Amino acid sequence: MRVLQGHASAECSTPNRTPGGDPEMAAAKQNLRNLGIIAHIDAGKTTLTERMLFYSQKEYRIGEVDAGTATMDWMPEEQRRGITITAAATSFLWEGFQFNLIDTPGHVDFTAEVERALRVLDGAVGVFCGTAGVQAQSETVWRQADRYEVPRIAFVNKLDRVGADFFRAIDSIRSRLDANPIPIQVPLGSEKEFDGMIDLIDRRVLRFDEKSLGAEIVVSEVPAEHAEMVEEWREKMIEAAAECDDFLLEKYILGEPPSPEDIKAALRRGTLARRLVPVLGGAALRNKGVQPVMRAVCDYLPAPDEIPFVKGVAPQTGEAVERKTVADAPLSALAFKTVADPHGDLVYVRVYSGRMDSGQQVVNSRTQKRDRAQKIYVMHANHREHAESASAGEIVAVVGFTDTSTGDSLALPGAPILLEPPAFPQTVVSMAIEPVTIADRDKLLESLEKLAREDPTFRWRSDKDTGQLIASGMGELHLEVLTERLLREFRVDAVVGTPRVAYRQTVRSEGRGRAVFQRQVGGQVHFAAVELKISPDPEAAHPKIEHHLREGDVPPEFHPSILDGARGALEAGGVLAFPIIHVRVVVESAEFRPGESSVMAFTSAASEAFDKALEVAGATVLEPVMAVEIEVPDEYYGAVSSEFNQRRAVIREVHLEHGMRIIRGTVPLAEVFGYSSTLRSLSQGRGMLSMEPETYAPVPEGVAERFRF
Ligand code: GDP
Ligand code: MG
Repeated sequence: MRVLQGHASAECSTPNRTPGGDPEMAAAKQNLRNLGIIAHIDAGKTTLTERMLFYSQKEYRIGEVDAGTATMDWMPEEQRRGITITAAATSFLWEGFQFNLIDTPGHVDFTAEVERALRVLDGAVGVFCGTAGVQAQSETVWRQADRYEVPRIAFVNKLDRVGADFFRAIDSIRSRLDANPIPIQVPLGSEKEFDGMIDLIDRRVLRFDEKSLGAEIVVSEVPAEHAEMVEEWREKMIEAAAECDDFLLEKYILGEPPSPEDIKAALRRGTLARRLVPVLGGAALRNKGVQPVMRAVCDYLPAPDEIPFVKGVAPQTGEAVERKTVADAPLSALAFKTVADPHGDLVYVRVYSGRMDSGQQVVNSRTQKRDRAQKIYVMHANHREHAESASAGEIVAVVGFTDTSTGDSLALPGAPILLEPPAFPQTVVSMAIEPVTIADRDKLLESLEKLAREDPTFRWRSDKDTGQLIASGMGELHLEVLTERLLREFRVDAVVGTPRVAYRQTVRSEGRGRAVFQRQVGGQVHFAAVELKISPDPEAAHPKIEHHLREGDVPPEFHPSILDGARGALEAGGVLAFPIIHVRVVVESAEFRPGESSVMAFTSAASEAFDKALEVAGATVLEPVMAVEIEVPDEYYGAVSSEFNQRRAVIREVHLEHGMRIIRGTVPLAEVFGYSSTLRSLSQGRGMLSMEPETYAPVPEGVAERFRF
C-alpha cells in the first residue's frame, strides 16, 4: 500500500499545441481550467465544490450546506434555504493547475445564472444523484451545455445512499441525455459499504482516509474478486476511447496493450470533441472521490486556448470577425454578470483574446461608447483580490464601468467585435409590489432598477394607467428571494401581491402603422414621421426589430431612436399591456426635417406607429406553459394523477422506476401556483415536483378573465 498526497502534474496529458505569444503565459494557460458545476438541485454541487476548496487549501475547514456554512452559498437567502441562488465564482490552485470554478444553482427559477455561466465556461462537471440518476433539471442544464458546446465530465454522487446504483445512473445519462457516458472508475462496494473507487486506467483502488477528511488517498491493488469486473469495464472504456483516437485504435486492433497515457490522451480527445463523457463516482459528503474529479478536470476538460479562435461580428457591418485566443491579439471580452454595489457595480468579464489592464480604456461594442476598467479583481465567492490585468482565457470582475452591463462586448478603440450574448428566457410570473410608506417609493424604484441590472430574468414596470409597480421573474421562489433582498440589502420594506402569470401577446396578422409627430416643445418645433410594419414570426425567440432606412432619408444618428421607440411600444404591449413576442418589426420609411427633427420626435413617432400597427394586426393573449415532472411513490399515483388532470394538464408519459411513478407532461402555469403544497398533501410529503417554462400557448376563452391583474 502506498499513500498518495498529490502527484506531479506531469501525469496530466495535454496534447501538443502551438501556443502564440509569451511562452510562459501560454504554458500557464494550458494549466487553466474555467469550469462550471451543473446539476439538478440537491445533487451535491455545492458539497463537491466545498471539498475542492478544502483540498486546494483555499479553505481550512470544509463548509457544509446543511449547517449553512458553505463558502459558496454566501448570501443569507442561500444559507437559510440551503440552496445556491447566485452562481458563485471562485479561483484556486491545485497541483499546478488554476481552477476558475462557477458553482451554479440547480433551481429553474435561477436559470439565468446557469445560462450565463455556460456561455463563458470552457468545460463543466455534471453532478448526478446516485439514487435518482438524471433528474428533470439535470436534463435542462445538460441541454443548455449542449447548446453552448461545452465539453463535460460526469460525477455520480451519493453512492453511500441507500438505493444508490452507479451503473443505473449511467444508464439514465445515456438514455435521457443522449450522451455517451464512459465510466473511467467503478465503485468499490455500495450504499453503507461504499468504500472507495477503482480507477480503471491504472487498475488501482482508491480509498479516502477518514481522519484527514479524505485528503489522504490510500492506494492498493484491485482485489482478486473484482478483477474480472474491472477488466470488463476497462475494455469497454478503451474501446470507446479508441473510437475517438486513431493512435489508440491502431494499438487496439493490433492487440497491443495501451499505456495509461495513451488512454488518457484518447479520452481527452473524445471529451473535447464531445463524443464521450468520462464518468467518475463517489460521495462528496463523505469526502470520497473528490480529488479524482479534480484530476479528471485537468486531464480531460479544455484549457481556454484550446479553441483557437473566438468568433464574433463587426458591430457596424455585421461581418464575421475572428480573434486568436492569445494574449497578444486585440482585446475581446464579454460581460456576463453584474452585481450591484454601492461602491460601483461589479461586472464579471471573460477575456477571450488580448489583455485588459487595470485603468484601461475600452469600447463597449454595443453602445460604441468608451468605458474604463478602473479596477480588476479575481473573485473568490464574496471576497476579491486585486489584479493588475486580465488576459485571454481569464475570468475576472471589474469595478468602474459606467456604461457596460450583462451581455455587452468589450474591445479596444478601433478594433470592435461583438460577441454573442447569453440568451435569457422570458419572465413567467408577475406580482404587484409597493413600498410600505410613500416616502420609500423612490428608494424602491432605485433598488428594483439595481436588481434588474443584476438579473436579466427580473423585470419591473410601472403600469401606464394605475402607476402600480409590477415585478416579474422566473417563478415564485425567484420573486420571494428578490423581495427578501430588497429588505436586507437595500433596506426597502415592500408589500407584494400574490404572484400571477406574466402573460404575453402575439400578433394575429400583418399590420402597418404610420404616425407623424409634430409639436411645439419649449418654443421649438419637433417633427418626425415613421411608418412601420409588424408581422407574426413564431420562430423568433426574441422580437426582431429592423429598419430599411437609407442615409438619404434620415441621418444615421436618429436610427437608434426609431428602433428604441418601436421596442418600447412592443414591451409596453398596447392596450392590454402584455409584452409582445414572436413578432417582427420593420421600419419601412421615415421622414426627416433639418432643424426640426429630434431624437424625442422619432422615438414618439415610432412608438405611436407601432401601436397603430398593432391595432390593425390584432393580438392574441399567450400564457406560459410549463414542462412538468412529478415523482411519487406508486401508492399515491392514482390520487395525484387524477387531481393533476383537472389542471388543464397534458400527460405525455408515465414511468414506473424502482417503486416510483414518474409523470411527465405540460400544464399552463396559471394552473399550478401553489401546486407543491397540494402535491405534498396528496403524497404525504413524498412527491417531488420540478417544472420549467416550455412554451407559450393562446389562453382559452373564458380562462383569460380569471387571471387578469
Ligand atoms: P446542490 O443543490 O447540488 O448544490 O446540492 P448540495 O451540495 O447543497 O447538497 C444537497 C444535499 O445533499 C445536502 O443535504 C448534502 O448534505 C447532501 N449530499 C451531498 N453529497 C452527498 C453525498 O455524497 N451523500 C449523501 N448521503 N448526501 C449528500
Ligand atoms: Mg448548491
